[in-house]
Amino acid sequence: MTLAASLQFIRELPKVELHLHLETSLRLRRLAERGRRASGPHDDSPGPSDVTEPQRIADPARFTGYDRLRRLRYLSRAGRIADEWYTPERMVVGVSGKVGEGLEPMLEELLGDMSANGERRPVPLLGADRMLGAMARARARAESRLGISSGFLVTIVRERGPEEAEQRVREAIACRDCGVVGVDLAGDEQNYPPALFARPLGLAREAGLGITVHAGEFAGPASVWTAVYHLGAQRIGHGIRAADDSELLTRLRERGVTLELCPTSNLHLGLCASMGALPLRRLLDAGVSVTVNSDDPMLLGTDLSRELHAVATTFSLGAAEVTRLVTNAARAAFAPVPALP
Ligand SMILES: [Zn+2]
Repeated sequence: MTLAASLQFIRELPKVELHLHLETSLRLRRLAERGRRASGPHDDSPGPSDVTEPQRIADPARFTGYDRLRRLRYLSRAGRIADEWYTPERMVVGVSGKVGEGLEPMLEELLGDMSANGERRPVPLLGADRMLGAMARARARAESRLGISSGFLVTIVRERGPEEAEQRVREAIACRDCGVVGVDLAGDEQNYPPALFARPLGLAREAGLGITVHAGEFAGPASVWTAVYHLGAQRIGHGIRAADDSELLTRLRERGVTLELCPTSNLHLGLCASMGALPLRRLLDAGVSVTVNSDDPMLLGTDLSRELHAVATTFSLGAAEVTRLVTNAARAAFAPVPALP
């Protein structure tokens, strides 16, 4: 085994994560425990042992494409627990009514875990504007105590339409002081083409926010072309299908567009048959700025170190290539990253 393929080497390497959905990354297991405790012994709400395995939720025989992701993320017992808890009151003060039980300490704890894992600049994705005050406080404390810096992306969900997208963008622009560094277009890529969101994302761009778009995950290269040329995406969430189009790869390289690969996520959603089937080598050989990310680490049972370790092992990457994946992420972080050694 090469040094770069050692999990220890990767854990100790200072790292930068670009693509981590906060909602499913919070301590759902702990939330479940607390929910059960708070509602008494006869309550049949899901407990920690009921958090369903991603493989079972994303059953390829039953669900395909984006529907499979929806099942994985929202219809899992973990997802239902999360929905119950996502009220502004509970997010901030927690179910027991005591400060210290809600989003703020959990986010700080999540950042603490990432810091212990060598991450220096995670950029979690965010769904609800009312979380931002609590998140800003957790972010500031994690930075001063642990030296881990973070920035937030406000996620625009395609299925909710362009009007809501514009509202989210206005919230993001108003919250730059809370640590919002950009917006992310996510959701059903096949049925809601990027062009629908040109106006809201144009507003974000004019305001100086970074733009990242989930594309080339469930849909083909055309979706990536549109995201880059119509929406001004500087980063593409996933983007693995760009590898099907060599002209597109040239343009991505020339424009310095960064791809946020999330290998385990792709594997669980059936987008590649095996880790080795990911087009990582082709993307690297084309000179595209490639990064590796964890996407939904709680649901997928992964973290950034494991993702980097998996690709280093699968594709026999050397230390220089692993480091390059990290420096690519640092360059694309939409905000200054503390110096990496
Ligand atoms: Zn994602």
